Amino acid sequence: NVPVGVFQVSPSGRFIAGNPLFAKMLGSESVTPEFLQGIEERLFVEPRTKEAWKQLLHDRKEISNMEIRLHVDAKDRYFLQSIHPFKNAAGQLEYFEGTLHNITELKKLENELLHSQRMESIGTLAGGIAHDFNNILQIVLLNTLKLRRLTDKPENHTETIEIIKKSIQRGASLVRQLMTVARKTEVVFQDVNVNASIEELRKLLEQTFPANIEIHLQLTETPPLILADSTQLHQVLLNLCVNARDAMPNGGLITVTSKILPAEAAKNYFGEATNRPYVLVDVTDTGTGMDDAVRRRIFEPFFTTKGVGQGTGLGLAVVYGIIEQHGGYIDVESVIDKGTTFHVLLPIRNADQASARIAVITEGESLRGSGTILLVEDESDIRMAVKAILEENGYVVLTAGDGEEAVNIFDRQHKSINLVMLDNGLPKLTGWQAYLAMKKTKPDVVAIFCTGSLDPETRAQKAGAGIRAFVFKPYMPEDILRKVQSVLAGGQ
Ligand code: ADP
Ligand code: MG
Repeated sequence: NVPVGVFQVSPSGRFIAGNPLFAKMLGSESVTPEFLQGIEERLFVEPRTKEAWKQLLHDRKEISNMEIRLHVDAKDRYFLQSIHPFKNAAGQLEYFEGTLHNITELKKLENELLHSQRMESIGTLAGGIAHDFNNILQIVLLNTLKLRRLTDKPENHTETIEIIKKSIQRGASLVRQLMTVARKTEVVFQDVNVNASIEELRKLLEQTFPANIEIHLQLTETPPLILADSTQLHQVLLNLCVNARDAMPNGGLITVTSKILPAEAAKNYFGEATNRPYVLVDVTDTGTGMDDAVRRRIFEPFFTTKGVGQGTGLGLAVVYGIIEQHGGYIDVESVIDKGTTFHVLLPIRNADQASARIAVITEGESLRGSGTILLVEDESDIRMAVKAILEENGYVVLTAGDGEEAVNIFDRQHKSINLVMLDNGLPKLTGWQAYLAMKKTKPDVVAIFCTGSLDPETRAQKAGAGIRAFVFKPYMPEDILRKVQSVLAGGQ
């Protein structure tokens, strides 16, 4: 009756006995002679188990805590197996004694952990690439625009410049997606009614999806309010539905449901969920489904089973990044030729969570202005291009290539400097450290932060300490000019 499987094996390798739990673990009701005879086949699913077994019989030494995988009732089960030789008083081997521990649940948790760690490191990698790539795009973009101004006959180059601009936009969109995977995009959290987002999506899908794809909604009566970036939530739902469409080349049904799960139920659903209510959104299709090998990899960036030019493999990686950033969870169930369901769990907004205000940028008539700006940027190509743009629009520009230089210039000339524009990652002193140093000299220094990415926490911290505005790379000249204008006018 011990809570582990116990068995005996003869010196020649025949199973001779087992306890009831041992039989049960291997999918048999009781220990019958037929069961004992058939064990080897089940036990030796993996070649290395067979190898270890041979070794055991040959060396007559023990095996301790060896991990093995068995097929039980057509499912993979994991066990820890220990075996040791039992010898009589004369030192002769009488039989082997072994135990089996079921570690299937443990193994499942371990796999989930490994998966999330892997996603984490892929995210870091993607974020790093995106950051560098962004700077490169910025240089190309600003110089392309400059080219247009410098040529005698700009009309001869219009087409070429348009192509370069389009390519940059494509690059920038790729960067944005990678940043989302790395959870480094700017997120504007507000109150969002999930049902309303789904309804809105339905309209879009009905206009754009082929007619043989039917869309069915089944939404909870109570409007599920969450704190979310509505554009990103839309992106999640859209990506899931586009995949559903792709999985149904001959048409079919997409069902989107929403349901409120109380804390307890959410925890049953996703073990890791925190103790609070969630909204569960399911997106189900009647498409091709996917096998385990595909299912394991779908959230990886650039993983796709679609042909060249058809899939980018970024859809679900983006979905994953967004859901993580919203404190949610995602899971998938799929049966080949039957269809697929994605389950998305998002935390319901607390009554005391205030939603963030969204900044509205109003477009001014002219982008020109006046005043002295200290521009701090270590990439000299970007620095030169931005300086030129600002100067052409009426500003006086001082430049610095690192944090220390910036602080020195500021110390000497802060009386005439109206605005400081800081890059985030600078040599010697970071943009942030330089800003703090300048604040000591002049507590009401006005600053704009230029960066490729910023997580919401850092942003909140910096905004709290007086950084007036943020500009995200790659930016268009208008973005910079508009920001400068509005900040100098006392806005954000
Ligand atoms: P893409 O759609 O560009 O291939 P995604 O990240 O959106 O990239 O999806 C990755 C892969 O996951 C797809 O290529 C497909 O093999 C699989 N997949 C995603 N959603 C479904 C679905 N609803 N049904 C079947 N397979 C799916
Ligand atoms: Mg996709």
